[in-house]
Amino acid sequence: MKKGFLVVLSGPSGVGKGTVKKILTERIEEMCVAVTATTRLPRPGEVEGKSYYFKTVEEFERLVAEDAFIEHVTTYGNHYGSLKSEVRRLIDLGKIVIMEIDVKGAVKIKEQMPEALFIFVMPPSKEELERRIRGRATETDDVIKTRLSIVDGELAMADRYDYVVVNDEVNNCATKVEAIIRDEAKRRLN
Ligand code: ADP
Repeated sequence: MKKGFLVVLSGPSGVGKGTVKKILTERIEEMCVAVTATTRLPRPGEVEGKSYYFKTVEEFERLVAEDAFIEHVTTYGNHYGSLKSEVRRLIDLGKIVIMEIDVKGAVKIKEQMPEALFIFVMPPSKEELERRIRGRATETDDVIKTRLSIVDGELAMADRYDYVVVNDEVNNCATKVEAIIRDEAKRRLN
């Protein structure tokens, strides 16, 4: 069977990565999302192996020591990481694996898997980015300020990516990213 590949969708928080990713998984049949490992406790309705791989702190730390993660972060006291084994398993099954990640995480993935397809989602403007973050209303004002303070540095990294796509209107952006992925799939899977 032909191997798949990894698509890394990156860019500042609030730019619309999650929204675009959801549309893409609905449009591209062979696309799937790699399940993340976490030490966070399951919320009601979350399913082991589907929502997350739930790990104890000891298990997670052992995996870190074994170099099992492509990248891992600690947010608000919980660890999250993308398992190399999970991504490789899906790629070997011929899947196009999509991962949504911040710019720092994307740099780490590039070190581990330089053959992945790196796409930067760019906001139409900083003002619009701020409107989206505030409109989403999922973060406190302090977190929003921290996120906005790192945006210039994040935007400066855009030219290191294979493609940069502006998220002006979301379906329009998704269509452009879809075309890039399909084109890449043709090139890689032939
Ligand atoms: P990210 O995953 O990059 O942090 P989200 O996908 O959560 O961003 O999007 C942030 C907010 O912006 C959400 O409320 C989402 O509905 C909205 N949004 C995403 N794309 C667009 C767009 N093209 N135009 C307007 N709002 C958008």
